Parts: sequence; structure tokens; C-alpha cells
Amino acid sequence: MNATSAAPSHLDDGEAGVLDDSTPLGLDVGGALLTERLTTLLGDDVDDVRPDSPDERPPAPGRVQALVTALIVFGPLAGVVAAIVSLFGHGVDALDLVLAVVFYAIAGHGVTAGFHRMLAHRGFKARRGTKIALSIAGSLAFEGAAIGWVANHRQHHAYTDRPGDPHSPHLGDGGPWSKTKGAIHAHVGWLFDDRTTDVARWAPDLAADRDLVVISNLFPVFCVVSLGLPALLGWAISGTAAGALGAFVWAGLVRVFVLQHATFAVNSVCHIWGKRPFRTRSADRATNFAPLALLSMGENWHNLHHSNPRLARHGVDRRQLDSTARFIRLLELVGLVSQVRWPTREQLDAKRNEGCRAPRRRRDVVPVDR
Ligand SMILES: [Zn+2]
Ligand SMILES: [Zn+2]
Repeated sequence: MNATSAAPSHLDDGEAGVLDDSTPLGLDVGGALLTERLTTLLGDDVDDVRPDSPDERPPAPGRVQALVTALIVFGPLAGVVAAIVSLFGHGVDALDLVLAVVFYAIAGHGVTAGFHRMLAHRGFKARRGTKIALSIAGSLAFEGAAIGWVANHRQHHAYTDRPGDPHSPHLGDGGPWSKTKGAIHAHVGWLFDDRTTDVARWAPDLAADRDLVVISNLFPVFCVVSLGLPALLGWAISGTAAGALGAFVWAGLVRVFVLQHATFAVNSVCHIWGKRPFRTRSADRATNFAPLALLSMGENWHNLHHSNPRLARHGVDRRQLDSTARFIRLLELVGLVSQVRWPTREQLDAKRNEGCRAPRRRRDVVPVDR
């Protein structure tokens, strides 16, 4: 079976929710031929599709790629150690913390609003400049280039917690050791998989968008900027080399480390622990894990997301913080994005599990824009 025949071709709003219509939302999908191919590629029910066998995923470039991944994943850990050591002598500078929070918010919302809700799921339509800005912001997060990120994520939705899912924690035999291995695999282990997700298959719309190709190709440059800019600002504001170093460690390495693991935890924790108030496909184990709300910027309401992936708001109930939805609402108010897929009470109630009815008060479930 070749890749095309194995491709899921029906990912509707309630299921994979990746690309289920032919309407480009803020993306240049490269004409009718590609649009038609997308519709065909992502139009049937994935439950009936035999997932990829390992040899159907192209091999990664090899050890160099693994080395780069190791550097990206474990490099920031060195910064965390340096930061902890430095705490004993000097404490932490307020400037370092402010820069860390600012860069966390920029790169984080670049991933959540840009890579995830805009590019992967088309939860809203963005003007070209906004699309570029969000994609660059997401590229500062050390989580891979935009197009590859989206391809992996779409494959995750198509095969959630079944063979073919790049980072499910549930593909072992169910024993204690298997569960531990599954959690580690879902968190960081999958990044070292020697197979790659086929971009031509999972993100042909993005591969046809010149802006996104350029931004993806510049990913190494954005990594340098992501660490260099805080250091430069630290030096410019404090006027000292120590100020530059502190900003590099805290707003660079530590910020990248925390953001990466908040994102990784959505793949691992939010498929293992937490509540499941909404119905998903049978194998899908996505959960809402409340403690991650602030750091994951609302991506922790992952059960709701898997139940209705195209919605631009994930924290839909009372006291469910979703800063990404607030940010998208702000962009909508100033006219930078449009056609936002805000949830409606009917959409949510249609997917709620018994016993998980929303509170009766209207404001608990209303879309962000009401
Ligand atoms: Zn998931
Ligand atoms: Zn998603």
C-alpha cells in the first residue's frame, strides 16, 4: 500500500479536524489541483484506514539529525543547570525574569496560535503579515520548523493513540514498564524516531506556501535569534556582559526549556492523566489536565481539542484559562484575523459525555467573542 492509498481521507470537524474543506483560510494552497488533492487526501474516515507500516515513513537524514535534535532538546537543560547554580550566588535579576516571560509569551503563542490553531487546524484566517509574524514567533520555540511541526501534528490527530500516531503513550502492551516507556516516548522519545513524517502527504498546503517554506528553511536562524536576542537586550538594557549572560541563561535557555516541556507535556500528560468531559474517537485518550493551563497557554484542554479540533478556543468552560484564545480574540478585534471558529453551546453540548453537562449559567460556555 503506498502512502496515498493509506492516507486518511475523511477528517471532519469532530474527528481529526485537520483540513476538511477546500477553503483556504489565510493560506496560499497553490491552486485547484492541490485543493482537490487535499480534499481527496483528507476526506474519508480514518478509522477504516490501515495505519502506516514503519517502512512507509521515510527515514530521517541519520545521525547528524539525531545530534541536532539532542542539542535542541537537551541543550536548554544546560541553561537550567547554569541558572540553578547562579541562583546560589546572585539570585535572579528582575530584568532576566521580565525578558523570560516576554519571550515565553511570544514564542509560546507563536506555537499555540500560529503553528497549531492557525496552520495545523485552520481555526481562523490570518492576513499574510499576521501569518508570517505568527509563524516566525513559533519558530523561536525550538520545537522544529513550522511545516514539519504541522505535518507531525496532523498525523497525530489522524491516528491518535493508534499505530501511526507519532507520539502516543499508549502503544505498548499495557504493563507498568510499557506505560513508563510510553510516557517517555510521548514526551521526548518520539523526537528521536528514525522515521520522519512525510510533509508532502500531511502538509501539502503549507509546502505550497512560499512564505512558510522560507520561514521553515530559516528555522536554524530563528534558533540563533531566539537565544541571541534576549542576550542582546540584556546587554543593551543593563550595559554589562553579566546582564547579557543572565538574560541569555534565563530568557534564552531556561525559557526554551520550560516552553518545550510544557508543549511536550500536552503530548504525554494530556494523553494519560486528567478528565475527559468530551467524546472523542474510541481509541483517543486525550484529556483535560488543568494544572498545565498557564504554561501551555490553554493547550492543556486537550480533550476538548481532540473532540472538536478546529475550534479556536480550547478552554471552553468556567475558569478554564486559555490565553491563546484571548490572544486570537485580540487579533480579531484589531482586524488581523477573521473567520475565527469560536465554539457554540450547541457544538459543545453535542460532544459532552453524560455526567459532564456544562453548568447552566450562560457565561460558562460562551465563545470568547460573546
Ligand atoms: Zn493529542
Ligand atoms: Zn491539534
